[in-house]
Amino acid sequence: MRGEARIMILLSTAISVVCAQDPAASPAFPAPAGGLERWGDSVGPEAPSPLAFVVDDGDQNRRTSASPAARRFVADHPGWRVLFDPRSGMPWRSFGPGIPVARSGAAEHEIAAAARIFAAELHARWSLPGDVPEIGYIGRGGRLWYVSFRQAHRGVRATNAGLTLRIDTEGRLVLWGGRFPRADTSGEFALLAEADARMLAVAHLRARGLLADGSAPRLALAELVRHAPLERPNSPAYLVYRLRLSADRPRAEWEIYVDARDGAVREFWNDIRHAAACGERASSPHLPHVVSRPRGFVAAVTSVVHEGLEPWQTAVATALPDCAFQAAGATYVTDATGGFSFGGASPVSVQSSLDGPWITTFNQAVGGTQAYYSAFVATGALNVLWDDSVSTQSERDAFYFGVRARNRVLQNNPTETLFNTALPVNVGLVGACDAFYDGVSINFSAASGACSDTAFSSTVVQHEYGHHVTATIYAAHGRIVPGHLGEGFSDLQAATSENVSQVGKGLLGPGTFVRDLDNTCRWPFQCGVGIHARGKVTGGAWWKARQNRFASGGANGRAAVDAALYAHFHGTPETETESCLELLLLDDDDADLSDGTPHLADYYDAFTTAHGVPFPIPPIRIEHATLGDTADQWQPIHFRAEAVSISGSTIVGATCFYAVNGSAFTALAMTSSGPEWTATLPRPPTPAIVSYYFRFVDALGTAVYWPSAAPDGVFTFRTYRPVVVFEEGFDGAVGNWSSAATSGTNDWQFGAPGAAAFAFDPPAAFSGGFVAGTDLAPNATFDGIYAPNVVEHLTSPAIDCTGRAFVALDYRRWLSVEDGAFDQARILVSVNNGAFVPVWNNVASITGDDHHLDFAWARHVVRLTAADGQPSVRVRFELASDAGINFGGWNIDHLRIDASPPSPPLTSVGSTATGQQLAVQVRGGAGEGFILCADVVYAPTFVPYVGAISIDPYGPTFVFVVPPDLLTVPSGGLWAGGTIVPPGLSGSTLHLQAVFASVGSDPYSVSNVLSLTFQ
Ligand SMILES: [Zn+2]
Repeated sequence: MRGEARIMILLSTAISVVCAQDPAASPAFPAPAGGLERWGDSVGPEAPSPLAFVVDDGDQNRRTSASPAARRFVADHPGWRVLFDPRSGMPWRSFGPGIPVARSGAAEHEIAAAARIFAAELHARWSLPGDVPEIGYIGRGGRLWYVSFRQAHRGVRATNAGLTLRIDTEGRLVLWGGRFPRADTSGEFALLAEADARMLAVAHLRARGLLADGSAPRLALAELVRHAPLERPNSPAYLVYRLRLSADRPRAEWEIYVDARDGAVREFWNDIRHAAACGERASSPHLPHVVSRPRGFVAAVTSVVHEGLEPWQTAVATALPDCAFQAAGATYVTDATGGFSFGGASPVSVQSSLDGPWITTFNQAVGGTQAYYSAFVATGALNVLWDDSVSTQSERDAFYFGVRARNRVLQNNPTETLFNTALPVNVGLVGACDAFYDGVSINFSAASGACSDTAFSSTVVQHEYGHHVTATIYAAHGRIVPGHLGEGFSDLQAATSENVSQVGKGLLGPGTFVRDLDNTCRWPFQCGVGIHARGKVTGGAWWKARQNRFASGGANGRAAVDAALYAHFHGTPETETESCLELLLLDDDDADLSDGTPHLADYYDAFTTAHGVPFPIPPIRIEHATLGDTADQWQPIHFRAEAVSISGSTIVGATCFYAVNGSAFTALAMTSSGPEWTATLPRPPTPAIVSYYFRFVDALGTAVYWPSAAPDGVFTFRTYRPVVVFEEGFDGAVGNWSSAATSGTNDWQFGAPGAAAFAFDPPAAFSGGFVAGTDLAPNATFDGIYAPNVVEHLTSPAIDCTGRAFVALDYRRWLSVEDGAFDQARILVSVNNGAFVPVWNNVASITGDDHHLDFAWARHVVRLTAADGQPSVRVRFELASDAGINFGGWNIDHLRIDASPPSPPLTSVGSTATGQQLAVQVRGGAGEGFILCADVVYAPTFVPYVGAISIDPYGPTFVFVVPPDLLTVPSGGLWAGGTIVPPGLSGSTLHLQAVFASVGSDPYSVSNVLSLTFQ
């Protein structure tokens, strides 16, 4: 049962998709049967659509502390935050209180000069890859300048790479960031000639059946670049030829990146669907707008169009702006009301071809000709009516809505300069319900079956023009529009222009539509993996943001979102999260993103609550010292966390959810004292494995979970100090582990993760250098993604658990797998060579969209009840996939099988009589450090960042720590020490407890309390 059935169901409300960038024949994601998504002749992979990562405050803080450059930057610029891409380890975005770099109201060249200085400093201090950055493009939108720097390596440009700055109109730098792939190390010079690369590219397409026999694609572009595939955050930038090939059969515009060293095709996709020869048609020159005295005549131009109507309704005459007329050797363009004045000598001959400064229309049903109007005018008034006598409906609609789409750009971003030439529009194409942008023109098919002529739909036309908008702006900044955002942004331009959530409304008749932005699609793939389906997340989030702002601020609020949409294209976001970050930046009113923005709650609700997009700035900042294992038999469990709203709201509620030994989670209300929230759980039974997570809610109703991956990712501790029975870090010989596939190819491997091309795998091992994982190493067989239709497993050697109680598996996991309804990741256990029995599996949801995606190493503890006391226990990690969506699969590191200890960690082995030898024994891991605390009055105290220990180091009863330094558990795991019990202590009680030092990011753990009453 693969994804088709599900996609079909989810799309049953969406009749089809608008443009030609459809997942028709993607080998990875075949289109559903029935052809509803099969618009146009799209073939091959879709435009790349990178996956956002989850911004985890704790992880980000650790990364900042570990980076000398980040520490120095934050020291130099107090209040700034640096966020890293956890998959590449490179800086991603940084923001904080605006840094003055230019004067208020500075001109573009002053902004450029300031940006250059700042960029050079960042480049040096952060050792950013490539040459000293040079400015590629400066865009304007709202109150921001968007400055994009080129990343180049010895003069060779890197695609989709480089530093980007935001400077506000008051001259303050408010954000910097970028994407910084390093050059691969294979060499600096091309070994292949461009002609060889082209030959290899064509061979690549032919081998995949993507070129018809005898068809020879035309080379539209070739450049030597550094290229790190957009969907591969760890990838180095390879030296490649970027080739753009226009193919006729099947029609496609191929973007192909051929390695200039070894000829490998690093990435390819079909960027533009139809060739249709429109690439060869020159766009119209910019037509001068002649202003003259109204002397000869005044013209009123109307056109019969589907203004405010659905395609199946009867068009009506409407004033036509931006239409050019020729008279007496000059050009006149109609104004917003469809009028123009001719001031020359009349009578005069007047002509028009239904074109103008922004749109030029060609009718492919009649050989690419244009509509034609001609009249001989005397004086007075000229009433021009574009109707069926001089034009076709598709020409009129395409022109009219195309002009509207262009004018929306300038209306929302008056500083835009990239849309002052005419875009060719082709109508009357043969094709069922087709509409597409091919990089140089927008194109619409004639009516076919139940489908109207696609040019009749205002939103379809504006969707296609929207592709032109984003492609042009991204290209100016040296970037490529990701497929999923491109679709979402096109839908948004169309929908916001008409103020209707349904795109393609009525295209197949009354009550039909193509996509609805008033949707509940959740990030990343809930409504499907194709770029249009993924675009519904972006479209839905912005649409909800617009609704929220309308509810709170009326038409002005809504207009602010529309303006931000157009401005933020200059931020060239690659993911939904980056798109949201740019929106927040434009919403900010104090040049400091780190303290939130005025409408953050509206946007959090839209992007994160409604659509599941990882929010770039968590609206509630949470600090929590993870609880460690505790063998303390007296203290209850204290859950404690600090939570602060950064949106100006207050935290009004907090809940701790806990589960004991894999039971269902129980909610525990927390109480606050200032920012600190606490909840107390009576001591669970010992031994027990306790999992927990938090939920905080602010006064605006915003809810934030901690850890953010909860409940898939949770914190875990034990009520005992486990003893390790077996451990494996996969760093040494692992010959006693075995792997096999019972179906498909076994791709389990031991090795270093972080293969450049693998988007879903960890950048590095959790500890040591190696891990066990599916599809780790790049070679001809492996692509980082587990294979379809595979059942494969990795099995541990037999582990002797004789005499062991409460056996558990404790390991670090980085797993990405499709919803368990389709692909299953399982852990199984076999006892004494018996059958393997499942003990854990990924979630299988009813909707089939709850994919398990770890974005960090997660600790995972699983109780293995059947293993208790058994002489031969084997643990198995299994992966079973269907034919559909595949991810990175398993990555496993730092694995232990452990058990409860035979006795408490702290025991007395001496005498309690005065004058006699007092001796205590501490059991721990060999080499483990600890301190021993003692107290004469039992006074349980919670010590922040230490845990629940029984000694109050600040209280009057505190006696001593023996000795004051860290002790070490010797090999053998037992430490013993003691002293002579002094006289005079008779009758009193001494309480002892060991606190074990943490290793790395592990929390402290504590022993039991040993109480000794002296005789
Ligand atoms: Zn589209």
